[in-house]
Amino acid sequence: MSKILVTGGTGFLGSNLCKRLITEGHTVFCLDNNYTGRLLNVANLLKNPNFTFIEHDICDPIGITAHLDYVYNLACPASPPAYQGSHSIKTTKVCVLGAINVLELAKKNNARVLQFSTSEVYGEPLVHPQVETYRGNVNPIGIRACYDEGKRCAESLFFDYHRHEGVDIKVIRIFNTYGPNMDPNDGRVVSNFICQALSGQDITIYGDGHQTRSFCYVDDLIEGIVRMMNSPKGFTGPVNLGNPGEFTIKELAEMVVSKIGGKVVYKDLPSDDPTQRRPDITLAKTKLGWTPKVPLNVGLDKTIEYFKTQIKLFNQGKVK
Ligand code: UDP
Repeated sequence: MSKILVTGGTGFLGSNLCKRLITEGHTVFCLDNNYTGRLLNVANLLKNPNFTFIEHDICDPIGITAHLDYVYNLACPASPPAYQGSHSIKTTKVCVLGAINVLELAKKNNARVLQFSTSEVYGEPLVHPQVETYRGNVNPIGIRACYDEGKRCAESLFFDYHRHEGVDIKVIRIFNTYGPNMDPNDGRVVSNFICQALSGQDITIYGDGHQTRSFCYVDDLIEGIVRMMNSPKGFTGPVNLGNPGEFTIKELAEMVVSKIGGKVVYKDLPSDDPTQRRPDITLAKTKLGWTPKVPLNVGLDKTIEYFKTQIKLFNQGKVK
C-alpha cells in the first residue's frame, strides 16, 4: 500500500479520488485550503485512520514529513465564476506556485507526481476534436487566461522538472466532468441546470446554447486518472481524459427539462467562452486501455439523485 498526497482533496474531483484511494487501502493525505473545496465532501473519510486532512494553501511550501510515493496535484479553483474576477491573480499563483511547491515535494520524496491539467489549454480550439498534439488557441489577456495560461505554465514546469530534475511526472488534460460532490453553487453548467430545475428556478442558457461540451461522469474519469498514475514510468502524457460524446448546451438543458421539468431562459454569453470542445481519446484508449462507460443520460440521473439528497439535507439544516 502506498502513501499518497492529494492536493485539492476536498473538491469535487479530489474527494472522489480520495474515496477511491482509501477504498483501495492506501494511506491518503488530503490537502486543501477549502476555498472551493468542501469538508463535507470527505466527511465519511475523516473517520478512517488511513485518511488525514491537512488545511494548507499550496502557494506555500508543503511541509509533509511522511515519505510519499505518489502525489496528485488538483488544487485549483476550476469553475469559471470561481477562478475569474477578484480571484484571478490568486488562481495564477495557485497554478504556478502550487506546481513548483508540489514538484519540489515530489523531487524530495522521489515520488511520482500527476498534474491535473485541462482542456482549457486548447482555448477556443481550431482543431476538432482536440488531440494532445494541438497547441491551442488561448487568449492570453482574457478573463479565462488566469486559469488557461496558469495551467499551461504548470504543464511547462512539470516537463522542465522532468527533463532537468528527473522528476517522474504524468500529465492529464481533463474535459468537462460532472457527478456527485459537485458544489451546487459553483456555477458550472451541469450543477446549475440540475439545481435550478430542482428548485423551480429558470434554467439559464448562456448565449444561444449552440456551444458544445463533452461531459464525462466522475467515476469514469477517476478510473482514467488512476490508470494514468499506474502507467509505465516514462509515459508522461499529456493525455486527454474525457467523454467524446459531444452535446450542445441547449441539448443538455433539454435533457434536464425532460427529467425534472423547468423553463429555459437565455442570458449573455461570457467572453472567451469556447465554441466547441470534444476530446480525441485515442491516446488514452491505446496507452491506458481506458474508455468512458457511463452515458450522459445515465450519469445525469445519478447526479440528479445526488443533488436531491443534498437539497433535502440542506433543508433539514444538515449541510450548509
Ligand atoms: N453555461 C450555461 N449556463 C450556466 C452555466 C454555464 O449556459 O448556467 C454554459 C457556459 O457558458 C459554457 C458551458 O455552459 O458554454 C460550460 O460551462 P461550464 O462553466 O460548466 O464549463 P466550461 O467548459 O465553460 O469551463
